[in-house]
Amino acid sequence: MPTLRDRRMLVLGLAILMLGVSGGALAVGEAVRPPEIVPGESRCANYPCQMIIKDVQHSAGLVTSAGEFTFCDIGCLLVYMKTKVAENEEILRAFVHDWPSGEWTDARTATYVRTEIRTPMRYGLIAFASADEARSYRAQNGGELLDLQQATHYVMTERAKRMGSATEHGK
Ligand SMILES: [Zn+2]
Repeated sequence: MPTLRDRRMLVLGLAILMLGVSGGALAVGEAVRPPEIVPGESRCANYPCQMIIKDVQHSAGLVTSAGEFTFCDIGCLLVYMKTKVAENEEILRAFVHDWPSGEWTDARTATYVRTEIRTPMRYGLIAFASADEARSYRAQNGGELLDLQQATHYVMTERAKRMGSATEHGK
């Protein structure tokens, strides 16, 4: 007879197994897979942010010829792509989470909405795999629709503003 403890261990084992399977079933039908993000352990690669990633929904990933990188906020990914990727370094894929489904999607083809949502670095950007869904989100909730280039421009401007006012902040 298996003891109660044995049964508990079996249930726990099955739960871990199922988590592993569902975590691996990513809907990105391409060869380059997104980096693994472990909440509470993975760190934002954008210097000097380097925050521990807690909120997977807002996190982002980047795979280049130099390696894999994880980010706490879409804004950190865009800053990194703009300022930290070396000239001879090839961006293989960039990933953000599709807001409605929570699935990974391609950051370069996603549509962004600048919102009042308090994302980890307060950039307020959320991403949509479908431009139609981004438009309907915006119609219901307000905000500003941006493509990758516009989102990058917004983030770089916002970052410059913050750096410029860092000394007079006092908060
Ligand atoms: Zn960050």
